[in-house]
Amino acid sequence: MATSAHTTARRVAPIVISTWSFGPVANAAAWPILASGGSSLDAVVAGATAVEDDPTVDSVGVGGFPDASGHVSLDACVMQAPDRCGGVCYLRHYAGAARLARAVMDKTIHVLLAGDGAEAFAQRQGFTPHPTHLLTPEARAAWEAWRTTHDPSEAGQREGVLPPMNVEERYRDARATPSDKFRHAPGAREGNHDTVCLLGIDHTGVLSGCVTTSGLGFKVPGRVGDSPIIGHGLYVDQTAGAAAATGNGELIMGVCGSFLAVELMRAGRTPLEACLAVLDRIISSYAIMPQHQVALIALAPDGRWGAASLKPGFSCCITTPAGQHQHDAQHVMAPRFTS
Ligand code: ASP
Repeated sequence: MATSAHTTARRVAPIVISTWSFGPVANAAAWPILASGGSSLDAVVAGATAVEDDPTVDSVGVGGFPDASGHVSLDACVMQAPDRCGGVCYLRHYAGAARLARAVMDKTIHVLLAGDGAEAFAQRQGFTPHPTHLLTPEARAAWEAWRTTHDPSEAGQREGVLPPMNVEERYRDARATPSDKFRHAPGAREGNHDTVCLLGIDHTGVLSGCVTTSGLGFKVPGRVGDSPIIGHGLYVDQTAGAAAATGNGELIMGVCGSFLAVELMRAGRTPLEACLAVLDRIISSYAIMPQHQVALIALAPDGRWGAASLKPGFSCCITTPAGQHQHDAQHVMAPRFTS
């Protein structure tokens, strides 16, 4: 099929960039595909799937924290070009959201399938329902601790409670490793977000992106964030570049964060400048609260990349033929506990 993803192919060194401290898990699955001449689409979906399938990651796939009613729901999308994109959202009984998003792109005429319809499609694609509906005992325990300690009156006249911090901040504040995360005292006020976003270029120069998440922990049931929505959580254009976002989805959605970053690259900004400009737009558009965090990664068609966040604590993992490193991204605002 002749697509705009493939008509602009060019030769550059392969690269994959992915978000947060679980980036190395993603890149460990994605890089061998790129290194052996495989496609960037296969690579980013494999990387996303590796994080989804890791039950110790409590913000993506199986093991993700549930919504306020105790049900986990997954969102994901993939993109190569405006005519090559697909997503799923509000998937509650099936794992493999990234692979299913790709199936929506490859096997339907649509871009986004939601809820029951997405699950019926999953069944037709041969996916089997997850035995515990994506909920692990650890995620259930975290939800029960949250339920007994959160104060619904915090929400005021609007439903929904912001997670007080993201996963990275939680580990740092507790001086704990990811494997220590459930040792926190019951009742600790914890909520979370953090999405794995991957952007990659293969040996033919084709750009692909994939984003997958369980969304904000303890969200209002039915809530879908930026991650599965093309232009918000992810945007890819073979000429201008690719960008993906993570953090409080509501702040990303109001400015079409990933689309805006790609359009800024199209207008001549570097990937880093584009990420910083999107964050500036967010700062000027919202009353930023201490709990808020937004981070972006961006990749130009020639392999230049950038990453930036509102607050400290965001890192991403970059793998190229020269090696792999974890990059602490530049931030534009003070840490959450200072003003
Ligand atoms: N952006 C995701 C959401 O709002 C969460 C995250 O990336 O931390 O659902």
